[in-house]
Amino acid sequence: MPIISPLRLPPALESLNVWLAPPGATRKKPSSSPTTPSFAQFSQASLSHLHHECKSLPVHDHLSLLCSQYLASSLRPNHPSHSNVTTPPGPRKMKHTLQSRFHRTVDPYLTNGVLLPSDYKRTISLLHTSAVTNSINSLDPNPILGHAPPEIDPSEVTLPKHYRTSLSQLRSSHCPKLMSYLHSINASLTPYCPSCPNDPTPETVQHLFSCPNNPTTLSPIDMWSSPVRVAEFLSSHPNFTSLPPLQRPPPEPPP
Ligand SMILES: [Zn+2]
Repeated sequence: MPIISPLRLPPALESLNVWLAPPGATRKKPSSSPTTPSFAQFSQASLSHLHHECKSLPVHDHLSLLCSQYLASSLRPNHPSHSNVTTPPGPRKMKHTLQSRFHRTVDPYLTNGVLLPSDYKRTISLLHTSAVTNSINSLDPNPILGHAPPEIDPSEVTLPKHYRTSLSQLRSSHCPKLMSYLHSINASLTPYCPSCPNDPTPETVQHLFSCPNNPTTLSPIDMWSSPVRVAEFLSSHPNFTSLPPLQRPPPEPPP
């Protein structure tokens, strides 16, 4: 499970202007402008999008995973906490214990109520796989695709940071380069595509890929499956002129 460092944020968080500060620090609201993400962008962003982009579990799911793994570990006969987690609860249920809350999760991996040491590593791994699978299946549909997003192609990591940020913003449908989004946060008077003055159309992520005045063969799903090709498209798009030139590494020499 990746730990998010306040010094180096994943592109998805950088794109949403997540504010990280020590406890007790005061929060100063920045001014909104068409060129800088605002706190409205953060408040509108889908948590499911953030968890998917950052490959991190929601806090509740992560803590539940750690608890179930610790319970499994403690149910090994030689574990120092074995007697604690196998002691029967009292006659009255005052509050949940580690065992009462997570025993049902661990039970399929037990043999006669204990975890055999030979099954330990495999059980810890299976608990992790189950938690991640359940978390992925419970994510909200992506607002652009209308269904759970696929995995992002690994080639995205070869792109410069600014392009990865814009791609993440577009995948969340909250991109300050698009007029429909700026209009939704009162940063623009009009939501319409500036390239289509004769046919006013809201400049959404879908329109970005279907605008007749900026034609492309790409589609929104390519932001996940072909991020490099989408970045090349963005590098020549009039809305993304603030992005630095996209310098691609030279092709591999023939063998
Ligand atoms: Zn257009």
